This record gives sequence, structure tokens and C-alpha cells, in this order.
Amino acid sequence: MARVAFIGLGRMGHGMAGRYLDAGFTVSVWNRSKAKAEDLIARGARWATSPEDAAIDADAVVTMVADDNASREVWLTKDGAAANMKAGALAIECSTVSHQHALHMAGVLGARGLIYIDSPVTGLPDAAAAGKLTLLVGADPADLELARPYLEPLSTTIRHFGAVGSGTVYKLINNLMGAIQIAGIAEGLAIAEQAGLDMKLVLEAIETGVAASPQVIRHSKRMAERNFAGATFTAALRQKDAAYAVALAESLLSAPPIMGRAAVQSYDRAKAYAPDDDEGKMIEIVSRPK
Ligand code: NAP
Repeated sequence: MARVAFIGLGRMGHGMAGRYLDAGFTVSVWNRSKAKAEDLIARGARWATSPEDAAIDADAVVTMVADDNASREVWLTKDGAAANMKAGALAIECSTVSHQHALHMAGVLGARGLIYIDSPVTGLPDAAAAGKLTLLVGADPADLELARPYLEPLSTTIRHFGAVGSGTVYKLINNLMGAIQIAGIAEGLAIAEQAGLDMKLVLEAIETGVAASPQVIRHSKRMAERNFAGATFTAALRQKDAAYAVALAESLLSAPPIMGRAAVQSYDRAKAYAPDDDEGKMIEIVSRPK
């Protein structure tokens, strides 16, 4: 059976690694903190002592870690996954990283005879655990075909945007647009609250109005109710994605990305306030009365 190494067992990665066990792959796992691996080990995964150990005999290595820095750590350090992978093995980056980082990794790993593809995802942790993610892939078409057996257990939809890095471009614009919407909802709701509007009516009007989107509907309800139970996506991760997207915008556009920069500022504040809490908690800062 094909061998998969899965690295990064956070909210998303834990469920994704479990999908490979469900599908009958031979799975080795590594996470910075071992506790998150215990139940996967009980289900048959091999605990690896380092990313290098996890990856050494793998046909595909899949990473799902926080950001560029974490990705560098798990791939490229002395005991990183790339240190001893077999030639021709797949290196599948599901983490949301910067565009520059994805291109850099493709170059470095490609020079070592590995096939790097970027495959960031959309979907919440429950979709990750159920194999219902959408994958946003940047890869040569032939490399995507090689990777497909390792992508299918994770997903219901695979969107191939083009060459390496292009999946990350789409992921970053998707999350930047989300960041702008969520920061906008916080301000809109805060104004309504301080102006004394009936918030039940406000939510009803939002849900059926032209400004609604799945994102707006989900977050407006949680924000209005101050219900952040079961944080799925943190302020720190959203800030990171928005900042990566703005850096990409600045590299491509002559006009300054004003909206994106404002979203980054909103999330700088949210991250300083509660980095590991739900991104929607920014309403608590924004809604303070004058
Ligand atoms: P998370 O729960 O915070 O998990 C982050 C993972 O990265 C953990 O395994 C963590 O290890 C690891 N990590 C962080 N810094 C590291 C470092 N320096 N070296 C090694 N490992 C490190 O985050 P998540 O929600 O699963 O998100 C993972 C990725 O998916 C992120 O790129 C995020 O933007 C993206 N994403 C998330 C969602 C979502 O809804 N949550 C949706 C789509 C995409 P420890 O466990 O030891 O801390």
C-alpha cells in the first residue's frame, strides 16, 4: 500500500491524516507536539521522531502547518522532511503559505529531485475530517495526476489553477476577500449595536439582503451572539493570510491595495487581542462604545 507521511496535526491536519488511515494507506505522522497524534497512533499510524523520519520511505509527504516559517521548519531544517526523501516522491503542501514561499519551495525541492505541488484548501476542520475539502492546486498537469491518489481521500473537489504557486494565489485572494468581509461585518454590527437597533431584526435583514454571503451569514450570527465556541479559524491565521495576500498584491499591482491593507490592520488588532481565538472575536474590540 502507498506510504504517506503526514506532518502537522492541528485543527485541520489531524482530520486530514485520519482520512489516509480510513482509506487504508500506510501512514506515518509527526507533529511538533506529540499529544495531538495519540489517537492516530492508536488507529495505526506510525509516530515518527522527526519530519525526516516520517518522510524517509514515503511516496508522498503532506504538510498542514501554520505558515511559511513552520513550512520551512518541517521541510528544510536538518531533520526536515526533504532531508532524505526518495527521488521522485511527492511533496504536497496543503498549508496556506505565501506565494513567494511556494515558489521557493518548488525550486529547492525540485532541485533535490522531489515533486512539489501547492494544494492549499478551503473548508473547516469538520470538512477536513470528513474528506470534504476543496483543494486549490498549483502543479504541472502530469504532477497533478501523480498526486491525485493522495489528494482524493481529502477532498470532494480539486481545482487546478495552473503551474506551481497558482493554487496559493487563489487561496490568498479567497482569504483576503474573506478577511475584508469579516472585518466589515464586525464594524457594521458594532454600529447597529451602539445605535440601539434590534439585533434579531438586523440579523434577519442581513441574511436576506444583498450584502449576504455564506461568510457574512455565518460570522454575523456568531458575532452578534458573541458565540465563539469551537474556534475553527484563528485571528492569527487570518492575519497571516491577509498579510501574504497584500504582499502578493503589492508585487503585482501599481495601485496600493487599500482594502487589503485595512483588513491586515484589523487583524493585527484582533491578533494582538486574542491570537488563538476565533477570528470573529474582533467584534469585541470593534464594538466598544465611545
Ligand atoms: P492550527 O490548529 O493552529 O495548527 C497549526 C499546525 O502547525 C500545528 O500542527 C502546529 O504544531 C504546527 N506548527 C506551527 N508552527 C510550527 C513550527 N514552527 N514548526 C512546526 N510545526 C508548527 O492551524 P489549522 O487551523 O490546522 O491550520 C493549518 C493550516 O491550514 C494553516 O496554514 C491555515 O491557514 C490553513 N487552513 C485552516 C483552515 C481552518 O479552518 N482552520 C481552513 C483552511 C486552511 P503544534 O500542534 O505543535 O502547535
